[in-house]
Amino acid sequence: MVYIVGAGPGAEDLITVRGARLLKEADVVIYAGSLVNPGLLKETKAGCRIYNSAVMTLEEVVDAIRAAEERGLMTVRLHTGDPCLYGAVREQMDAMDSLGIAYEVCPGVSSFCGAAAALKMEYTLPGISQSAVITRMAGRTPVPERESIRSWAAHRSTMVIFLSAGLLGELSRELIAGGYERTDPAAIVYKATWPDEKIVRCTIEELEKAAAEAGIKKTALIIAGPAAAQTGYGRSMLYHPEFTTEYRGKSTAEKGKKE
Ligand code: SAH
Repeated sequence: MVYIVGAGPGAEDLITVRGARLLKEADVVIYAGSLVNPGLLKETKAGCRIYNSAVMTLEEVVDAIRAAEERGLMTVRLHTGDPCLYGAVREQMDAMDSLGIAYEVCPGVSSFCGAAAALKMEYTLPGISQSAVITRMAGRTPVPERESIRSWAAHRSTMVIFLSAGLLGELSRELIAGGYERTDPAAIVYKATWPDEKIVRCTIEELEKAAAEAGIKKTALIIAGPAAAQTGYGRSMLYHPEFTTEYRGKSTAEKGKKE
């Protein structure tokens, strides 16, 4: 059996309880060494065979999984954050499907959640933005033209931009060409939840300069859009005393006022 497990954004204790249990039980662990905290491997059992997929091809990963399956061993394939984002997991799952290997997926805390926590930020502020666009600049992996940064920017939503820390000059230009103001707020979060996490707040126009000053070249998320200021929003209805929900009647204070 193979478990594709999300390791979380960095901090060792941000893996799920289920993911930690699977890691403890694993006979073989194949972890994404470029971004998974190696501290997570401390809890593996004696004799667990550990591979670093950063130095492997898809074929080598699949071969290691197949060899483990032939010996009846349990494999954990450990991906950074949550496997569903930029994890190249579909191709692994397809390879396992064609080999008749059974697998399950255990979710993880994505780095976009880790970054929001680091910034103490709510991406979806009433009256400002109710959408968070998760995207990236085109790199070696192309991005379909209809999903260009410029086209998303036209919505002035909150944008969380992965895999683009080396392209910040162009990113700023695209965001501004698409509809953001030069002075709209942005943030750069480097290694969110790791001990060496860094947070930089700047304007959209300043992204490249701000990252250079902080020495940030990779492993960062860019958060852009008016919500990054975290001000000027409207109060949510969810906890508003004048509104009832399925779970909560009118607050005592409010009842007192009306009666
Ligand atoms: N599946 C992962 C993303 C993998 S792609 C997830 O859910 O987070 C790798 C990119 O994710 C990096 O280039 C960077 O943009 C981002 N990233 C991963 N971990 C990060 C962290 N702790 N802090 C900031 N960005 C991170």
